[in-house]
Amino acid sequence: MGRIFLSPPDMSGDERERLLAAFDSNWITTLGSEVDGFEADVVDFTGAPAALALSSGTAALHLALLVAGVGEGDEVWMSTLTFAAPAFAATYVGATLRFVDSELDTWNMDPDLLAGSLEDARSRGQLPAAVVVVDLYGQAAQLDRISRICEEFGVLMIEDAAEALGATWCGRHAGTWGRLGVYSFNGNKIITTGGGGMLVGDPDLLARARHLSQQAREPVLHYEHRSVGFNYRMPNLSAAVGRGQLAGLPAKIRRRHEVNAAYRRELADLPLSFMPWDPRGVPNGWLTLATLDDGVDLDPRTFCARLDEADVEARPAWKPMHLQPVFADVPTEGGEVAEALFDRGVCLPSGSSMTDDDVDRVVAAVRAVLASP
Ligand SMILES: *Cc1c(COP(=O)(O)O)cnc(C)c1O
Repeated sequence: MGRIFLSPPDMSGDERERLLAAFDSNWITTLGSEVDGFEADVVDFTGAPAALALSSGTAALHLALLVAGVGEGDEVWMSTLTFAAPAFAATYVGATLRFVDSELDTWNMDPDLLAGSLEDARSRGQLPAAVVVVDLYGQAAQLDRISRICEEFGVLMIEDAAEALGATWCGRHAGTWGRLGVYSFNGNKIITTGGGGMLVGDPDLLARARHLSQQAREPVLHYEHRSVGFNYRMPNLSAAVGRGQLAGLPAKIRRRHEVNAAYRRELADLPLSFMPWDPRGVPNGWLTLATLDDGVDLDPRTFCARLDEADVEARPAWKPMHLQPVFADVPTEGGEVAEALFDRGVCLPSGSSMTDDDVDRVVAAVRAVLASP
């Protein structure tokens, strides 16, 4: 029996044919019709006003902050419960960070806490230049409220939907609620290009980001530069794979929902509480998360190590940014909710290529671990 991975790549459509066609055309690198086509496909799929294909989600976050005009001396506020990439990106542009705690309906940024903290910041005369809201584990944050709050305070909102491509909130796609939004196509995300990302949103800001992402080359033959540029574009070969993956995204979302539903059903009697799915949104089901109930005499790290012995890859929830040694000095609004989720949260294998037998194997392994902790 093979190992069951957390979220492995799922190449089940015509990705291979598309890749070989791009290869045979000899349009290998960062120019080519597949890059343009992938951007158009993402615009079609999400309803975003414009899209820019990049080498990673982290690069997209970096450019988002740059074209939003965020720099030295500015504050950037963001969800504390997240993968570190958005916090790193804010650091690249020299911004000062502040972390905001989660709420328990979506596990994402708490809108009430955000509003109260912005009120305090305004009275100090220190509003942030941008808020980065993260859609965790494929579920959108309360984006209607958070975008309204940002608007009220005149603060630019960037949505990190790296984990949430295909999810919606109030009928609108994750990634399309802020001035700018970010998707990732890293290897373990719901669709992958091997590595890559997409910046979506305001067409004027995206035009600027496109320029910066291509070494800030002026449109003349002799290589002239008026700004510091970056080599951040997505290669055409990757984009070819991405187009095949995107075409299969609805099927992948359906399968991840089935896996999630199977865990909820088959593990219902165990001392586990699954991450709530708020009915105002439809998550993409990227990862199935649960917290170990209070009575369980196991921490997430031990739980995952025990599943590993059964060749099942599980992982603790993200460690909040305010607990990371590298961000030890960053001020944080609240933090207890994220800490509690980290203390008890585990991710179960959730790949869209999982068979029913794989799901049964994970269920049996989880049962065995919780029966004799
Ligand atoms: C994966 C991820 C990123 C970074 O994307 P890369 O393509 O790996 O650079 C950013 N934010 C979040 C929340 C992520 O999960």
